[in-house]
Amino acid sequence: MYKKITISGGFHNRPEINVRARTADDGRLVLSAGQVDRIWRHMCTYHGCICGMRHGWHVEGADRQDLAEAMAEAAVGW
Ligand SMILES: [Zn+2]
Repeated sequence: MYKKITISGGFHNRPEINVRARTADDGRLVLSAGQVDRIWRHMCTYHGCICGMRHGWHVEGADRQDLAEAMAEAAVGW
């Protein structure tokens, strides 16, 4: 199963980005490291920026906390 997630806003007030996240059998969101990379590159376009947080992100299609957990999980093993 897949869920379409739309993220916008944040520290740099970015336009929307869409991500197609996989949902595991237990309902958790699963993102690939590449997807997380793409999200960060979109949400923070400033090289060397230290905003490094999801402050003010507007998330549609998924729970904010679920997204945060999926991003943290995908980042493991980078
Ligand atoms: Zn930034």
